Amino acid sequence: MSDEGNIIKECINCKKKFCGRSDKKYCSDYCRTFYNNHLYRARRAEILKVQKILLKNHEILKRLYLHKRVKMSENELLSLGFNENYFTALPQGFPLKRGEIIMQCFDFIVHIDKKHNVSIHKSE
Ligand SMILES: [Zn+2]
Repeated sequence: MSDEGNIIKECINCKKKFCGRSDKKYCSDYCRTFYNNHLYRARRAEILKVQKILLKNHEILKRLYLHKRVKMSENELLSLGFNENYFTALPQGFPLKRGEIIMQCFDFIVHIDKKHNVSIHKSE
């Protein structure tokens, strides 16, 4: 502790010790800017990663739908690179039976029954 409410802190960017108010996190404007840019880039990279997966999923569904290949096994769909952990919505108004999965990827709806049969529909 020092005077005027300032305390010894550790900069969350460069880990250097500095004297400052208890709510201060950075030793300098440089470190604040650097750290915030780093956070922004990391968040942006995560968003781009998810976006890339969703676009790939959509591309796979679009290609299948255009070739009228709207029924297949779940394994077949996965082998094309479809990632069923990522989707854009859970469609409403589809009565599901136990063990069934339904997910939306932009304008396509993927339905997987409990025997792992996939059907692809285009949403309105
Ligand atoms: Zn610093």
